[in-house]
Amino acid sequence: MPELPEVETVRRGLSDRLANFYISDLQVCRDRAIASPGGSEEFVSMMRGNKIGQWHRRGKYLLATLHKGANDGGQINSTNIDGGWLGVHLRMTGQFQWHEKESIPCSHTRVRFWNQTGKELRFVDIRSFGQMWWVPPSIAPEKIITGLKKLGPEPFSKEFNPSYLRQRLKGKTRPIKTALLDQSVVAGAGNIYSDESLFAAGILPKTPSGQLKKIQIERLYTSLIEVLTISIGKGGTTFSDFRDLEGTNGEYGGQAWVYGRGGQPCRKCGTKLLREILSGRSTHWCPKCQK
Ligand SMILES: [Zn+2]
Repeated sequence: MPELPEVETVRRGLSDRLANFYISDLQVCRDRAIASPGGSEEFVSMMRGNKIGQWHRRGKYLLATLHKGANDGGQINSTNIDGGWLGVHLRMTGQFQWHEKESIPCSHTRVRFWNQTGKELRFVDIRSFGQMWWVPPSIAPEKIITGLKKLGPEPFSKEFNPSYLRQRLKGKTRPIKTALLDQSVVAGAGNIYSDESLFAAGILPKTPSGQLKKIQIERLYTSLIEVLTISIGKGGTTFSDFRDLEGTNGEYGGQAWVYGRGGQPCRKCGTKLLREILSGRSTHWCPKCQK
């Protein structure tokens, strides 16, 4: 499943590719992909004729500003969001593809956007859990995309820091791994980066959250930021079906310390790494390096 680094990689790809993309036409191939209240019909009619502005990321959500107006090739006024917003969540397997030339869409194609020169942005989703929303201009995106309301602070924001983390974990008995997966604690960190940052911090995934010492929480904070920063720099991970806009996947996976390496020797101490299902997610750790 794409996590923060992968979604951030997709965001950057979309920003590069779609500067001034004018939605000349679009097609929803599967109604279920559209999650906004008006369904695919409204989505198509309200998206058509807009220019796509800036792409933002919040947790694992992508949000693009939409700008009405003629296709005059001119620059858009990014502060005037008169076309509303396009919201996207990739979920398990959603991915964007860029097609310079006309091509036959695969059977997993969900939504297609064309500009006036026939170049296509295609949303493909094998498992079909991915979602898109059109948000009207006068409405805050979290009113329509309700999942946004539940999100905790962004890992790279000022609000996310060791004392915030200590406050959120205080008195809690659930395992720290489970707490890290909770999007209301921190937005965007999922399975891979939770396992990796717990390894980097030397903390056992099953440790009850409230039992972590101050110094461990500080280490965990630093490790999470480091792991996410490195992975964004590598364009996300090679694990899962993740692909960026150009069809390549990231390089972080090859360097993972524990994720996906259950049964293999720890890269640091040689001890056999363990794997177990914790809160429904596979969890990987080194019984020697993590205490
Ligand atoms: Zn080890």
